[in-house]
Amino acid sequence: MAVVGSGAGGGVVAAELARAGLDVVVLEKGGYLAERDFHHQEGDAYRDLYLYAQTLTTDDLACRIVAGSTLGGGTVVNFSTSFATPPAVLAEWAEVSGVAAFASGEVADSLEAVAGRLGVTEGQSRPGVRDQLLERGLERLGWHAGPLPRNVRGCAQDAGCGWCGFGCRLGAKQSTLVTYLEEAAAAGARLVVGVDARRVLISSSSATGQAGRAVGLEAVADGGHRLVVRARAVVAAAGAVETPALLLRSGLGGQVGQHLRLHPGTAAMGVFGEPVRWWEGTLQARWSAELRQRLGPYAPIFETVPVHPGTAAVALPWQSAAAHRALMERSANLSLVGVLCRDSGAGRVRVDRDGSPRVRYRLNAADEARMAAGVAAAGEVLAAAGASEVFSIHRQRFSFRPGAPDAHRAWADATRQAGFAGGRATLASYHQMGSCRMGADPATSAVGPDHRTHEVEGLFVADASLFPTASGVNPMLSVMALAHRAAGPIAAALS
Ligand SMILES: Cc1cc2nc3c(=O)[nH]c(=O)nc-3n(C[C@H](O)[C@H](O)[C@H](O)COP(=O)(O)OP(=O)(O)OC[C@H]3O[C@@H](n4cnc5c(N)ncnc54)[C@H](O)[C@@H]3O)c2cc1C
Repeated sequence: MAVVGSGAGGGVVAAELARAGLDVVVLEKGGYLAERDFHHQEGDAYRDLYLYAQTLTTDDLACRIVAGSTLGGGTVVNFSTSFATPPAVLAEWAEVSGVAAFASGEVADSLEAVAGRLGVTEGQSRPGVRDQLLERGLERLGWHAGPLPRNVRGCAQDAGCGWCGFGCRLGAKQSTLVTYLEEAAAAGARLVVGVDARRVLISSSSATGQAGRAVGLEAVADGGHRLVVRARAVVAAAGAVETPALLLRSGLGGQVGQHLRLHPGTAAMGVFGEPVRWWEGTLQARWSAELRQRLGPYAPIFETVPVHPGTAAVALPWQSAAAHRALMERSANLSLVGVLCRDSGAGRVRVDRDGSPRVRYRLNAADEARMAAGVAAAGEVLAAAGASEVFSIHRQRFSFRPGAPDAHRAWADATRQAGFAGGRATLASYHQMGSCRMGADPATSAVGPDHRTHEVEGLFVADASLFPTASGVNPMLSVMALAHRAAGPIAAALS
């Protein structure tokens, strides 16, 4: 059994399959870095721990696509927020996909199992200054504010935590590196890093008219040599950009690569009199569902993120070198309210001539309108928290000074009219999903209810690609739950 990818999906499914007695090899194209190796140098960390060193974007350059690429995948670099899939989303997934397991309690049981294993708790969410300001603004407005559930054990929750997007040096973040992958290895799984799976080997059964069967993988190892892995079955868990790319390189088609969701995110930013040091503090500690409660299930939620100089340089509005530099020099006094959008529209992953993924994605009008409402409300939060100036992260600088009559309304109108699509504002995706979605009908999905691709026997998917629609909350726990659930049908198919 070969598992491609070792992140939220790959780590969990590898452990569960190894525990079930299967002979498992995990192929991970990133390297193996652990607590002692996390150097916390921003630029080098992007190179060492992130997919394509964080240079991947949508094909129109409008939205950065940020994902982990290391042993443990996204779970090593992510911000440790651990939401269970909301029941309403599970119900939607059951309806869209025709897969009963989403709403029958089966996925809910897996959610409980993985949350228990990761020690998910709201008890280690001490807010840093960024999150204190978010909470202060929300409370002054009388809006929803809540602590974030996190997968940490013994987290320091102090200034140093802001660097954990480059790996947690304490081992407190319960990534698959320190949980499921350790268990997989203990149960006999072999973990091989620096191996880029290029193609699933599929035996042709055209004579019988039946679908082909996965019999292994062709890969390229560090140093460029070709590697062939023979296996009774293959589980693709390379993330929602790379899993469809692998399947497309292997000759699959149909719905593979379609329905990609990105949770596109943007922000409002504020200038504060007090030092914020937005790169410091617990990764994420507070959130707000205010707009979702008011505007419905596809409205954005608010969270903050740690902002190191490289991220700030990319995100902050650019009018001129001098203006950008002036803003960068004020970094210590800036804060943000992140606007995390649940996209109803979808993009598509294809591969180019050398097999690299290309992501086509355009924000649709409804999502853009909800994003505009989110930014307007985020500006209100920052103003209520005491910002002396609030701005959006459009290419053009749109800002207002709280207290001036009608200032917020004029700013919100200007940002909405400018729009957010097509590179007019900084957008980033930390959550890619849905590009090989699960469903009963091959006309609208790529993978069946038993995690097997509709097209190839013995080829399974167990990662964020499976989501029928966007999760609407940070997706790691949902990915892990689906991977946990996947192990049952996969082991059964091989017995
Ligand atoms: C900076 C950041 C912060 C985030 N914060 C949160 C958060 O706080 N909470 C939350 O719920 N979610 C968060 N996420 C998202 C979450 O981490 C992902 O949704 C989740 O990890 C996706 O799981 P996955 O198994 O689909 O893919 P991943 O975890 O990305 O794992 C895929 C792995 O496959 C490997 N791979 C890819 N292609 C190949 C190939 N061809 N051959 C071999 N290996 C390959 C990759 O290197 C990678 O290690 C964050 C993501 C990022 C990047």
